[in-house]
Amino acid sequence: MDRILKQLIQLQELHFTLLEQRTLVPKGHLVDLENAIKALMKDLPQGIATLYQGLQKRNNAAVVPETRGTCTACGISLPTSLTAAILSKQRIQQCPNCLRILYHFEGAPRQLKRDLDQTGKPRAGVARFSSAELMLPRIEAGNRDDAISELIQLMALKEFVENPEDLLAAALRREAIVSTALDHGLAFPHVRGIESGGLTFSLGLKKRGFKFDPYAGRLTRIVFFIVVPSATSVFYLQVLSGLIEALREDSARKKLLACETPEQMWTALKGLTQKTIP
Ligand SMILES: [Zn+2]
Repeated sequence: MDRILKQLIQLQELHFTLLEQRTLVPKGHLVDLENAIKALMKDLPQGIATLYQGLQKRNNAAVVPETRGTCTACGISLPTSLTAAILSKQRIQQCPNCLRILYHFEGAPRQLKRDLDQTGKPRAGVARFSSAELMLPRIEAGNRDDAISELIQLMALKEFVENPEDLLAAALRREAIVSTALDHGLAFPHVRGIESGGLTFSLGLKKRGFKFDPYAGRLTRIVFFIVVPSATSVFYLQVLSGLIEALREDSARKKLLACETPEQMWTALKGLTQKTIP
């Protein structure tokens, strides 16, 4: 059963990546990814494949971690007998509330429940997902891994997330499937399956550019690092396309890249995303 669970987790990661790539590169060739998904599906026992497909259609996230006795997707506390059964890995176990397939993961990165805005006013637009504190005008690193690490460290320093090392490892696993670097110098490294909290991102700039994707010739200048809680998987794609849309024009990217301070960056980002992330 351990092997099947691992297969399911891998399958889900590929599915997420496929959805993302359709958002990011609408005309991209995704045949390899589609074939890998088909092969994994075929390899699963029939009943489990059907269960996975049904859950995936309904919830997007079909396989989620159980951490500290809680379903990380719907947040309910699970009976001790169930958490013991999950640990034993004898059978596939489902959450009694949201029906998602559960696997045990003690180290699921946890998002701290810090409010993004201290004023207490209801937040709108991009302010629901980030703040001036999470803007980094100068990424120091000249390579992908260290750049992602800087953006995670900033989030951890400002107490938005914990376990920065686990987050970095998860972000790099995702990059290994297919790079999140896009045209126009943009990159969107991210981590899914965060326990609780809301979708949050930090943003860093590297004005002269660097090779985020070691296999591509293009240079990356604008890097968003995004943490995506299990429950916001679908919503994530809307935020992602909103950010891409806001930075589609050369003039928009120049405006952002001209910023020298976190406050300037934040003001520029709020202005640029006003229509694309309402
Ligand atoms: Zn649940």
